[in-house]
Amino acid sequence: MANWFIQASYFVVAVVFILGLKAMSSPVTARKGIVWAGYAMVAATVVTFFTPGLGNVGLMVLAIVAGGAVAWWSGKTVKMTDMPQMVAIYNGMGGGAAAAIAALEFARGEIHDPVVATLAVLGALIGSVAFSGSCIAYAKLQGIMKNAFRLPQQNMVNIGLAALTALLGLAIVVSDQPSSTLIVLFFVLALALGAILTSPIGGADMPVVISLLNAFTGLAVGFEGYVLGNPALIVAGIVVGASGTLLTQLMAKAMNRPITNVIFTPISGAAAGGEGEAIEGTMKEFSALDAASVMRYASKVAIVPGYGMAVAGAQHKVWEMAQLLEEAGVEVVFAIHPVAGRMPGHMNVLLAEAGVPYDKIFDLEEINADFPQIDVALVIGANDVVNPVARTDKTSPIYGMPILNVDMAQNVIVVKRGKGAGYSGIENALFYKDNCRMLYGSAQDAIGQVITHVKALES
Ligand code: NDP
Repeated sequence: MANWFIQASYFVVAVVFILGLKAMSSPVTARKGIVWAGYAMVAATVVTFFTPGLGNVGLMVLAIVAGGAVAWWSGKTVKMTDMPQMVAIYNGMGGGAAAAIAALEFARGEIHDPVVATLAVLGALIGSVAFSGSCIAYAKLQGIMKNAFRLPQQNMVNIGLAALTALLGLAIVVSDQPSSTLIVLFFVLALALGAILTSPIGGADMPVVISLLNAFTGLAVGFEGYVLGNPALIVAGIVVGASGTLLTQLMAKAMNRPITNVIFTPISGAAAGGEGEAIEGTMKEFSALDAASVMRYASKVAIVPGYGMAVAGAQHKVWEMAQLLEEAGVEVVFAIHPVAGRMPGHMNVLLAEAGVPYDKIFDLEEINADFPQIDVALVIGANDVVNPVARTDKTSPIYGMPILNVDMAQNVIVVKRGKGAGYSGIENALFYKDNCRMLYGSAQDAIGQVITHVKALES
């Protein structure tokens, strides 16, 4: 196939990537955007097979079939609540692949241009950090690694290791034919850096670090695309790197945590100690009938979903209940915290799946000032994102994280199974407040019972 045709195809693919990403910016067109980008990736892969002088075609086909089969199977079977770890591990694979490209190019000893060598080293460093960091993030989210590990003088170790790795990288750039010992040592240190940087991070910082590692992978892929002279890789990498960086900034802003704090003074939840001040008061139980009555005769109800609603898969029941209340003349809105659940946009995806119209869904900044005028805040399986200690207790590990101010609503009803803590592992002062009542039960059952009682009140 003529080279111009391959290059033109890459250009078209790059344009489709960008259009796909644009479509992903709205929940209405997001699915379409993902499908477009997927087709573009398939096209880029097929076209690459026509590159003149391409070797190892059999091995490449084998790798694509094996990788494709695993991805297809895991994509079909993954539970919605396990998506973050899947995103983390696949993202890590991208970084690892970029680092592997660089390793092979160094080993072949054919990089002589200093600019190309510098980009290859940068891609290898960032890709290795993204790979090992994502593996640690996966292990934490999957519950394989339960504790956050913090070394003595962790920040000095990070800086020392980063400087040493950068020096070895420089040595690779300046040597025309780097020795295999130098290459191996460079990769070992880069991989260790990613693991050591990510190990102490946990709790509420996890979404930010996953997004940061995603941005790293994009950059690494972009750099290696330059090394290979492959425009589709360069554009895909830049698009992922830029959007990942923007997402990281947005998440960090939403958590009120500068990126430097996430890396250098991470929140590690209860695992790192720091339970915060003791909380006074008692938890007061409510029945499903009480909850149904209070909401049925309210003017405005705000529903605040969290991770527990996702685990219970209760979104359809929640929307059914909301519709019943609306039919009875109650105004119902949904309030979404940016890190509710276990991945960015988790609650938006679930509510969209259940058919909740977008104009009923409000972000934290849009709704927070309204809580004092809201009659009932119904918290369903959310915990950390409504914990008022984030506002009040300077000793709390989540101090400073913006929360949904549900405690300021006239009445609060919390649906959860028992006294379980949230992701950060700390007690929630909301549950002990005078205006708060606990409706114990799994979200599906509890909301199902509320629905039965609301219907009974209507008949
Ligand atoms: P949390 O994880 O803080 O709390 C969830 C609550 O749901 C628990 O207290 C649990 O209590 C309850 N629950 C569990 N199962 C059920 C069920 N079947 N029915 C009813 N309730 C249930 O959730 P939030 O959404 O409030 O906060 C998200 C947390 O996750 C934040 O700390 C965030 O930083 C973190 N995180 C977010 C990511 C993201 O990108 N969104 C990624 C990684 C972490 P009980 O056991 O008593 O039922």
